[in-house]
Amino acid sequence: MMRLMLKHFLSPKFIVPALVVGAAVALTAADAVKKSLGYEATSPLIPGTKWHVHDGTRPVPPVVTPAATFSHLAPPPSDATVLFDGKDLSKWKSGKGDAGWKIEGGYMEVAPKSGSIQTKDSFADFQLHLEFATPAKVDGNSQGRGNSGVLFNGVYEVQVLDSYENPTYPDGQCAALYGQSPPLANASKKPGEWQSYDIIWESPRWDADGKIAKKAAVTVIHNGVVVHHRKEYLGNTPHQNNGNYNKPHAPEVFIQLQDHNNPMRFRNIWLRSLRQYDQP
Ligand code: MG
Repeated sequence: MMRLMLKHFLSPKFIVPALVVGAAVALTAADAVKKSLGYEATSPLIPGTKWHVHDGTRPVPPVVTPAATFSHLAPPPSDATVLFDGKDLSKWKSGKGDAGWKIEGGYMEVAPKSGSIQTKDSFADFQLHLEFATPAKVDGNSQGRGNSGVLFNGVYEVQVLDSYENPTYPDGQCAALYGQSPPLANASKKPGEWQSYDIIWESPRWDADGKIAKKAAVTVIHNGVVVHHRKEYLGNTPHQNNGNYNKPHAPEVFIQLQDHNNPMRFRNIWLRSLRQYDQP
């Protein structure tokens, strides 16, 4: 009898269904973790997609390990506007007055709760280079770990986050167009390591009636890995909601670095305005 039962349990007929059941249980547990990080139950659908804003069940971009350096410490070309050379915050201000972040060893560091900072000048279409480092000492998880952001005109965010082995909702991970589009790959470096963003920004344009004529678009290279290729914003990038283009603004936008209460570091920030082909 025993031998017969053993034979039964070892038969493919039994093992295959048992494996399938096991896999189903494992998948459910992984899905539960993903769901716990997201807001799909309480956020609207993103137009043109089947995903909700901050959807924890959205596919996770593949991890690509970047090379040690790409444009790290790249000196600015001759026509660049240097926004931060490690020495002072003279090109920056806070919402209320002077930029209150601290400067140390050639970088600026978010003074948590001092507020986001933004460039005093505004620019239309441009190539932007900047470098950032998330805190070497890991503190918090998901959106609470190494959160900052590069925002254009304060409303179109390219997320900055410590996304090294730090699950979160994919449209909120590092280099995501926040709440809209996860990056094509997760090219994040380890906590504390310097990372580069090379961003090509194209400003939105409205027609005379205030209707959007050309959406904002970005190309983003993160540590040498293309993570967005002329990807259009669906509008501004609010938390847990869809953005829109209901508030026309000039093509010249300021660049904002977000204070999200984490001591993030930035260095070597410069930009080049783009001209049109055959522009005299
Ligand atoms: Mg952010």
